[in-house]
Amino acid sequence: MTHDERQAALEEVATDVRSCTKCRLHETRTLAVPGEGNPDTEVVFVGEGPGYNEDRQGRPFVGRAGDLLTKFLGTLRWRRDEVFITNIVKCRPPDNRDPEPDEIAACAPYLQRQLEILDPALVVTLGRHSLGRFMPGERISQAHGTVRPIDPASGARNAMAFALYHPAAALRTPEIAQTSYDDVAGIPAALLAARARREAPATESPTPATDRPSEPSVTPPEPAQSLSAAILVEEAIPDAEPDFTLF
Ligand code: URA
Ligand code: SF4
Repeated sequence: MTHDERQAALEEVATDVRSCTKCRLHETRTLAVPGEGNPDTEVVFVGEGPGYNEDRQGRPFVGRAGDLLTKFLGTLRWRRDEVFITNIVKCRPPDNRDPEPDEIAACAPYLQRQLEILDPALVVTLGRHSLGRFMPGERISQAHGTVRPIDPASGARNAMAFALYHPAAALRTPEIAQTSYDDVAGIPAALLAARARREAPATESPTPATDRPSEPSVTPPEPAQSLSAAILVEEAIPDAEPDFTLF
């Protein structure tokens, strides 16, 4: 897909989201929040769902949690417009309650389509609900700061997931804020590991990144591993230049 095709395809998803009535959250939303970012990025951040400010502006992570996410990106010298930022549910749960399983299920095809279009190398999960989608069965207290392969059925056909606490949790708890800064420092190594995995021989990566079929690959996920990103990248590419710039 070319840049223009990706942009158009993402805009089509956004249009569908803005008029969606597939779950009860549409009844209480002000604006749906499809997500936004660079169509050519390697890195997608996935939060839980819009909050008060996001619901009013129709944009993801624009409140206090968003300011902290922007700060996290800044420690890597990344900007918001170099990544893609979206959520598990695209409409605000009333009073910021947790999204219900049926709401998450109803909304899942939109995120799947976004991931198929973006074909990211790395998905950074923000909080428990996003973790549950990309590292099923894991606990955030164990999984934060770690990286592992994603099930291609998620839409991301050859990607790894890296887990972070939700920035709102970091705002509430200073220890989690400190841990989050430490975890964020592991993102570059996770990206390098994910790139290396995409470039690995056919057995590891059945679908070459340049050959984009219209249907996502349905190969089974690799067994769950919990590896520190730094160790993983060292094993994958011992002589790699540590270039984790995005553009
Ligand atoms: N929290 C989220 O999970 N997503 C947003 O977009 C904003 C706050
Ligand atoms: Fe549709 Fe998702 Fe909004 Fe529910 S949360 S109405 S499924 S866009």
